[in-house]
Amino acid sequence: MSQKILAIDDSPDIHQLLRVRLKNLDVRLESALNANEALKMVDESRPDLILLDVCMPDVSGFDLCKTIKSRPDSSNIPIIFLTVASEVKQKVMGFEVGAVDYIEKPFEPEELTARVRAALRSKRYFDMLSQRAMLDGLTGLWNRAHFDQRILEEVAASLRYDRPLSLVMVDVDRFKSLNDNHGHPFGDEVLQSVGDVLLRSARTSDTACRYGGEEFTIILRETDLEGARIFAERLRQQIQELVFKHKGQLVTVSASFGISNNALCRNPCEFNKAWLIDSADRALYRAKETGRNRVVIADAE
Ligand code: GH3
Ligand code: MG
Ligand code: MG
Repeated sequence: MSQKILAIDDSPDIHQLLRVRLKNLDVRLESALNANEALKMVDESRPDLILLDVCMPDVSGFDLCKTIKSRPDSSNIPIIFLTVASEVKQKVMGFEVGAVDYIEKPFEPEELTARVRAALRSKRYFDMLSQRAMLDGLTGLWNRAHFDQRILEEVAASLRYDRPLSLVMVDVDRFKSLNDNHGHPFGDEVLQSVGDVLLRSARTSDTACRYGGEEFTIILRETDLEGARIFAERLRQQIQELVFKHKGQLVTVSASFGISNNALCRNPCEFNKAWLIDSADRALYRAKETGRNRVVIADAE
């Protein structure tokens, strides 16, 4: 997908010029003529690069740069200042407030394209590494750090829009003895296959994570309790049907499931991340206590 550039400048002529100069790059160029418009567009369209004029009538480019850099959602967007050639002070100040580069006006076409290209290349690497840091190396699922962040966002969205939200916790049964009997590498192979089942079954709106060791979580957005139960039951069945071969021996595994949902929380004021995780965890514990290889729904409380 092509990357997005937001140009912020009070002069329509500059926008027109940038459009012409950058037309050969595979980018989408958006334009803002003032700070308010710019901040709205930063929030809405999350550009990959911002080209920012230093001198604008309503706000200084430096202040706008500081604002963009101070917001968690936009702090990672690289900013290139559009400066006047003779002003060394402007260039230095630009770096001090967080810009990655500057481009002098009037634009030198080749230099403009080269600097824009370089900044977009760095942003692509940054995005790739950020995503990789959130993935579990063994299974390719999201990792615990991503889960912790996502569950907060999903709980907040569920409360704000009064949407159902379910959490499924999965724990592979008697995994320790599987490791003991067949070795750690075999245990890893089992975890990878269980991870594949989760990846295949989850919709794009679901977040399947490796919570730790042989425990997994799936956040099911806009899913009621019955939907979550059917989903977990399907996973349970698919995991039970996996057949592994180790030293000529056929090995099968099973997993236990605990489910919770916002509707089970009698006092909506108490509904938060910890409540959702604790209640799913307690349901999982009961699944273990009552025989394993089963799905248990949390109690309303
Ligand atoms: P239960 O049915 O009660 O869940 O029993 P269990 O043996 O699965 O539970 P327990 O939590 O005692 O054991 C989990 C084991 O998972 C212990 C640990 O050595 C193993 N484990 C954790 N992470 C990994 C991993 O990345 N690879 C492998 N192979 N084993 C792991
Ligand atoms: Mg466990
Ligand atoms: Mg276990």
